[in-house]
Amino acid sequence: MAFDVSIITLFPEAFPGLLDVSILGRARGEGRWSLDVTDLRAFGIGKHRKVDDPPAGGGAGLVMRPDVAVAALDSLDRRGRPLIYLSPRGKPFTQAMAQEFAAGPGLICFCGRFEGLDQRVIDRRGMIEVSLGDFVLAGGEAAAQAIIESTVRLLPGVAGNETSLEEESFSDGLLEYPQYTLPRMWENEPTPEVLLSGDHKKIAEWRLNRSKLLTEARRPDLWAAYLNGQEIRASETDDEHD
Ligand code: SAH
Repeated sequence: MAFDVSIITLFPEAFPGLLDVSILGRARGEGRWSLDVTDLRAFGIGKHRKVDDPPAGGGAGLVMRPDVAVAALDSLDRRGRPLIYLSPRGKPFTQAMAQEFAAGPGLICFCGRFEGLDQRVIDRRGMIEVSLGDFVLAGGEAAAQAIIESTVRLLPGVAGNETSLEEESFSDGLLEYPQYTLPRMWENEPTPEVLLSGDHKKIAEWRLNRSKLLTEARRPDLWAAYLNGQEIRASETDDEHD
């Protein structure tokens, strides 16, 4: 069963963009996922295909009209897919959300421009607001490509080496350990000895330890959540012994 992605945008030329490169492009060629792009301009009003108007209440910029946005949205068959509005006010996107999306039938992504979309559309069509992070882009297209890329690479058969997905950053709540490859000596820096030892248990311990150190130093938020999760797991194991 394919994973179907639909995009609504004023800039259809931005797609497939990065989504046609490397493993995602190959997987789309193999029919593992599909992409269709709807040009919002085609639903615009009048000869000039107007899609926006000044904000109610005044202020700078333009707001995307609800009637135009909904005409485009309702032209698509939703088929149980989540309807996402890319927005800096949205829930910050995470690996857990990518996993949740990848388990579903696909995604519909509405890319905002200008000052964004009339709130009534977001409310009436039950849109999920998703943010790429705490910064403001000029439009939702780059954000849509980022969330689609991280979701689609989790689909079966897309990334090829599926075990690499299990160990990467965030999959266990920790950042990934540092990676090394050949040559063994480079600019007088050797590869850490333990990685050449062939002792898989030791290597796993070293990697976990490095993951913990990195996470603690760089991401106190993730580290606190990790410790909390460890405590909960420990108390659950205690309960089982009672
Ligand atoms: N005035 C708005 C920002 C508008 S930016 C505000 O302050 O909230 C124009 C469009 O770019 C938005 O409608 C949204 O679709 C997209 N966008 C901007 N930053 C984004 C982010 N961090 N994540 C996802 N989409 C974003």
